[in-house]
Amino acid sequence: MEAIRVKAYSMWNTSISTLFGKSPKVKMMCGNCEYVFSKRFEPIHFYKGYPKTLCPSCSRLNYVPIVVNNEE
Ligand SMILES: [Zn+2]
Repeated sequence: MEAIRVKAYSMWNTSISTLFGKSPKVKMMCGNCEYVFSKRFEPIHFYKGYPKTLCPSCSRLNYVPIVVNNEE
């Protein structure tokens, strides 16, 4: 099944250093059923594009359009 974009999301911190230091908790709304849930992503979730997670309500795979720049 293809991943769908979350309807809305918010993140506690947006700075990259904080992002990788603390594993941000992202609050999002399922793009399918609009269920609101939150998940703490790990840095590895960002390595291969957008982080994805299953909606705990309808089990659709959602992706969060967060872009992480590698500023080494
Ligand atoms: Zn859902």
